[in-house]
Amino acid sequence: MARISFNNLSKTFPDGTQALRGIDLEVKQGEFLALVGPSGCGKTTLLRILAGLEQPSEGSVLIDQLDASSLQPKDRNLAMVFQNHALFPHLSVFDNLGFGLKARRRPKEEIEQAVLPVAERLGLSDLLKRKPNELSGGQRQRVALGRLLARNPSIHLLDEPLSNLDANLRASMRNELIHLHQEHQRTTLYVTHDQIEAMTLGQRICVMNEGKIVQLGTPEEVYDLPANRFVAEFFGSPAINVLPGQTTPDEKSSATFLLDDHSIDLPDERTPEPGHVLLGIRPEDLTLLENAEPGKAWEAKITRIENLGDSRLLRLALGPHEVSIKLGPRNFKVGDTLFFAPNWERAHWFDSSSGDRL
Ligand code: ADP
Ligand code: MG
Repeated sequence: MARISFNNLSKTFPDGTQALRGIDLEVKQGEFLALVGPSGCGKTTLLRILAGLEQPSEGSVLIDQLDASSLQPKDRNLAMVFQNHALFPHLSVFDNLGFGLKARRRPKEEIEQAVLPVAERLGLSDLLKRKPNELSGGQRQRVALGRLLARNPSIHLLDEPLSNLDANLRASMRNELIHLHQEHQRTTLYVTHDQIEAMTLGQRICVMNEGKIVQLGTPEEVYDLPANRFVAEFFGSPAINVLPGQTTPDEKSSATFLLDDHSIDLPDERTPEPGHVLLGIRPEDLTLLENAEPGKAWEAKITRIENLGDSRLLRLALGPHEVSIKLGPRNFKVGDTLFFAPNWERAHWFDSSSGDRL
């Protein structure tokens, strides 16, 4: 079992690219941590430094309180599934799966005992004699995962391991990974750029952008209390609506939110200071009103309807803004006028220049 801490970790590549900028992060023993962020934000670099494949420019990594710089990669008791799932082309699936154990000079029987159940679990039992070039991309990805599971070290590093799988297989592999983690409780860093994968797999999610950690929290925390506009827009599909406007106290001293020339009353609680702000409201947090009292709702025409099966996603033109609303299945028509308002308890307010949560 292992605990990991990154302390003020930075990485600048020789060409000047700053891949990581002052990362401070504690990964708990046995935790499944999802590292998520857009392509190029430094996720792979962070794993490679932990694995000892790359040296930090600044800062340190501790594995169980030991400074990792004193440990050779092979002594870190970890294994990594690479994004490009590099397999040994000349070895069979069986030998690829057993490679880590063989390299550690484990006896043949032990290798078999480790490899066969993993192959079974990943649906590779019938492919054990094949070479990597005789496998599909998805099968190769499962072999790469199986290689890590057969060795089962105390730290598991997974870099977008499911990205080449089709949707169904990806969903079943996600379940498999959750079960495996529950069984073995290995400290796991799971890199993905997929918000759904991060939400469903991570016990905590570390959101990165431009080499920095933007938010660290449970899936509920990052979804319900995003630290800034970036995190709010990263999670949720369809994406959160972000509307620029102005909050003003009106004569009766209750506040309003002015979006262009549409004004809507705000509840007294949790209203930001008067001024320019961004209102973030998720499509599922807007509700329809049958008839609109002045100041209580926005009015807009439907421009597009997407049938999601169990729900309808409507796009509405609210002045120059496109607003998405997610509603139950009903017969809507393009061109219909709707009255709708935020569920204010679910509203997010962001600073109009920094995007930080207010
Ligand atoms: P991610 O995995 O989040 O997509 P990476 O960690 O691979 O991001 O890359 C972070 C940044 O560092 C990117 O801008 C990438 O181009 C750059 N980078 C990665 N490896 C190298 C390298 N060996 N030399 C120079 N730049 C690199
Ligand atoms: Mg990467």
